Amino acid sequence: MTGTITDDKTRKLGKMLEDARRVAVVTHTRPDGDAIGSSSAMACWLSGTCGSEVRLLLPNAMPDFLGFITEECCPGLVMRYDREPDEVLRWIASCDTVICLDASGFNRVEGMQEALRAADARKILIDHHLDPHSEDFDLVFSETSISSASELLFWILLSMTGTDDAGRLPMPVLRALLAGMTTDTNNFANSVFPGTFEMASKMLEAGVDRDGVLSALYDRCRENRLRMTGHLLKDKLRILSNGTAYIVVRAEELAEYDIREGELEGIVNIPLTLEKVRLSILMREDSGFFRASLRSKRGTSAFSLAERYFNGGGHEQASGGRLYIPADIEDASQVEAYVERVTDVFFASEN
Ligand code: 5GP
Ligand code: MN
Repeated sequence: MTGTITDDKTRKLGKMLEDARRVAVVTHTRPDGDAIGSSSAMACWLSGTCGSEVRLLLPNAMPDFLGFITEECCPGLVMRYDREPDEVLRWIASCDTVICLDASGFNRVEGMQEALRAADARKILIDHHLDPHSEDFDLVFSETSISSASELLFWILLSMTGTDDAGRLPMPVLRALLAGMTTDTNNFANSVFPGTFEMASKMLEAGVDRDGVLSALYDRCRENRLRMTGHLLKDKLRILSNGTAYIVVRAEELAEYDIREGELEGIVNIPLTLEKVRLSILMREDSGFFRASLRSKRGTSAFSLAERYFNGGGHEQASGGRLYIPADIEDASQVEAYVERVTDVFFASEN
């Protein structure tokens, strides 16, 4: 289905999973729908089909609305590093297999990074970001011309099972993968390839309740999130003559609107609906740094900007990163000036 899935690698993976007795499945910090979808599906598949002892190790909290995925796929198997670091590190030290999904490498798993690098285990990467850290892994499935890590895992599982029929995969695995692909494509708006529709089609043939999955993902927001969206678009959106739109979200605003993890998801896409905007940036204040979300229209590389000026990366049109205080900016009041300066330099260097 995709170039990275060869018969040789699928055989190798099948053998590795067959031999795996104790597995650590890991995904990136502040996990999103694709991170939770792909890693939960993997954990579900391993514990159900391969009979191995599995834990899904998350660096930190996931948004509440994704909870149904881990509940369906791997109840009782999720451990959080920020909550129980010692238990997580013990699991990593004692496992024989590590599978990292939806992250380009161990650099995106916060405090688990060193332990995962040092672990005497077979290591597998399944990812769709630019610049994978292949040197840290024994087996790498990496493809950027694909919607999501969830789609990549879908094709890997079908290939490993030797079937075309998605109905042969467990229903919780299918639902998790559909949720991951749907969220990463912004419900079929971005990063859609022929295989993405093929996957969706196979899911429907297999009887997956897509309406139910969509409803679980999108129809359960809290009012605060909507009010915050209104506030940010009305009072905080700045549009520059260089084609950049940006929003800076301050800690006080997050507190005032009681914004929880994942509740700003998607807002960064909205300014791109303006014809004059080619790049949209959302900066969210955290302690000692700002988290950056970058989205661009085709022809502008959010990835290059993230890599050059925001200590980050991701995909060509959707990237993220961080701006540290005082390494990048002196204090929190400098963030607007920084964004305006670097986007000017960035677009000037393009011409
Ligand atoms: P988001 O803006 O939704 O947080 O992230 C957009 C994309 O960039 C996602 O694919 C995400 O995995 C990636 N990304 C987000 N933050 C970082 C980061 O700090 N470093 C890297 N390398 N990628 C990131
Ligand atoms: Mn992803």
